[in-house]
Amino acid sequence: MDAYDVVIVGTGAGGGTLARHLAPSGKRILLLERGDWLPREPQNWSTADVFIDNRYISPDAWYDAKGKSFQPQVHYFVGGATKLYGAALYRLRREDFGELRHHDGISPAWPIGYDDMEPYYTLAEQRYQVHGARGEDPTEPPASAPYPFPAVSHEPRIQQLSDDLAAAGYHPFHAPCGIMLDEADPPFSRCLRTATCDGFPCLVHAKCDAEVLGVRPALEHPNVTLLTNARALKLTTDDAGTAVTGVEVEHDGTRKVVTADLYVVSCGAANSAKLLLASANDKHPNGLANGSDQVGRNYMFHNSQAVLALSREPNPTVFQKTLGVNDFYFGGPDFDYPMGNIQMIGKSQAEMFKGEKPLETKLAPGFALRDVASHAVDFWLSTEDLPVPDNRVTLEGDGSVRLSYSAANATAAGRLYHQLKSMLGRLGMHPDHLIPRHAYLKTDIPVAGVAHQAGTCRMGADAATSVLNPDCRAHELDNLYVVDTSCFPSIGAVNPALTAMANALRVGDHLLERLGAGRATVGSTV
Ligand SMILES: Cc1cc2nc3c(=O)[nH]c(=O)nc-3n(C[C@H](O)[C@H](O)[C@H](O)COP(=O)(O)OP(=O)(O)OC[C@H]3O[C@@H](n4cnc5c(N)ncnc54)[C@H](O)[C@@H]3O)c2cc1C
Ligand code: SF4
Repeated sequence: MDAYDVVIVGTGAGGGTLARHLAPSGKRILLLERGDWLPREPQNWSTADVFIDNRYISPDAWYDAKGKSFQPQVHYFVGGATKLYGAALYRLRREDFGELRHHDGISPAWPIGYDDMEPYYTLAEQRYQVHGARGEDPTEPPASAPYPFPAVSHEPRIQQLSDDLAAAGYHPFHAPCGIMLDEADPPFSRCLRTATCDGFPCLVHAKCDAEVLGVRPALEHPNVTLLTNARALKLTTDDAGTAVTGVEVEHDGTRKVVTADLYVVSCGAANSAKLLLASANDKHPNGLANGSDQVGRNYMFHNSQAVLALSREPNPTVFQKTLGVNDFYFGGPDFDYPMGNIQMIGKSQAEMFKGEKPLETKLAPGFALRDVASHAVDFWLSTEDLPVPDNRVTLEGDGSVRLSYSAANATAAGRLYHQLKSMLGRLGMHPDHLIPRHAYLKTDIPVAGVAHQAGTCRMGADAATSVLNPDCRAHELDNLYVVDTSCFPSIGAVNPALTAMANALRVGDHLLERLGAGRATVGSTV
C-alpha cells in the first residue's frame, strides 16, 4: 500500500492546475488519471478523425432520464477536457458571484465573492498564458494585472465583423485565449495558428491545457507521481465516517488501494458525483458526503447554441475564435434579464458538412454546399443554465452515469439567438440565415454535449443545502475536497475552465496552509 500527503483524482482543469500549485511544496503528491497521455499523432489535426470518427471521445455509455444510452462528449486523458478545449479563458463577471435574477429563475450567489477569486484569476491567467486585451469589454470585472500576453489578432473577415459591430454601437472585444502564439516573432512561435484548435488536440503542444501547463510542470518535481490508466472506483472512510482512509483504484487492470492525508476529487462534474455516489457506506448510505442529498444535483452545462451565419463575402478565416460580444450579458432591448455571451467557435470546414442535397436546398436556397462552407461564419451563443435540483446525476444499477436533464432558461437563449439574427444584415451576412450547426455538420452535437458540465457538488455555507464548504472541503468529511467544476453554485454565461483553474489555485493555497507548507504564490508569475 502506498501512502501520500495528497491524492488528486483527475488531471484536468481542476486537478492538473492544483497539482502544479502543490508540487513545489515538496509534499508527496499522487495524481490518479483514468486515461492515458493523449497520443501525439497526425490524427490530432485530422478533421475526419476528430470530428467525424470521434477519435478522442470516450466510449462510455451514459443514460438519460428515460434510460436511453448516449455517448457523452467526455475525454479521458492526462489534461482532461482541456486537451480538446477551445482555450477561451474567461473570468466570470463580478455579478455572477452574487444572486442574479433571470427570466426563468434565480442564479444563486456563491459563498465567495469576486474579490476572493480575483488574485487567483490573475494567477491562473499567468499560469495558462492567456492572451487578451483589457478595457474593451464593458462587462469585464476589475483585474489586478494586465493579461500576460497581447490579444490574438483578428483575421480580416473577423476584423471586419468587429468593425461592423462597433459601427452598429456594440462593444466587440478580443476574446481571452490560451494559445502560445507569438505574433511578434513568428519563427519562434510555438503555436502555428491552425484551423484545427477548438475541439482538436494540439499536435505541437502549443495549447495552454492542463497537461502542458499543469501536469508536466508538476512532474518536474520528484515528489509528484502520476499513475495513468488508473481509475478511482471508490473512496473508503474510517468507522465514524468522518475521514477518507483510501482510494480503491483499478490500475492497468489490477486493483490496489492508495492512501493519503488529504484526498482531492477532480474527475469532472458528472464523474466526481459518480465517484462519491459509488462510495456509499454505512455511515453515508446515500453516497459519500451526501447527507444533504445534493451530490449529483444541480447539474448545469450552459444553454449553448452553435450557429452558422452566411457571410456575403467569403470567410477564409483560419483561427476564428478571437472575438466576443457581451453587450447582452445582462440584458438587451426589451428584455431586462441576462441573455448571455456571443463568441466565435472554430471555423466549420468542408469535410464536416453532411452534403445532403435536400437539406442543402432547404437550409440555404440558392447556395451550393461548397459556398456554404466557404462563407460560413460560426458563432457560439452561451446562455446561463440555472441550477435545478432535478437536473442530476444518479447511478444505474451497473454503476454507470444516468443524467437526467431538462433545459433551463430557454427563453433567454431564444432571445439571444434572435438578437444576433436581427443584427446579421448590418454585419455583412445574409439576414435570414442563422442555422444551428448540427443541421449542417455531421457530428456537431446539439447543445455541445456535456463539454461545459458543472454543479454536481456545489459549495455553500449551509451544510443542509450544499456538499462543500467555501474551501471546497466536504461538509461531512474532514479530509475530502472536490476541486473541479462540480463545486460551481452557478455557471454564468462564459466558458468555465479559467474559473475551475483559478478556484483550484485558491483551494491549493488553503491546502498548502493545512499541510504546513506555507501559503503559496498569489501574485507570483511562476
Ligand atoms: C470540445 C471542448 C471545448 C471546450 N472549450 C472550452 C473553452 O474554450 N473554454 C473553456 O473555458 N472551457 C471549454 N471547455 C470546457 C473545459 O474543458 C472544462 O470546463 C474543464 O476542462 C473542466 O475541468 P474539470 O477539472 O472539471 O474536468 P476535466 O478537465 O474533464 O478533468 C477531469 C479528469 O478526471 C479524469 N477522471 C474522470 N473520472 C476519473 C476516475 N474515476 N479516476 C481517475 N480519473 C478520472 C478524466 O479522465 C479527466 O482527465 C471545452 C470542453 C470541450 C470538451
Ligand atoms: S492554433 Fe495553435 S494552439 Fe491551437 S492547435 Fe493550432 S498550433 Fe495548437
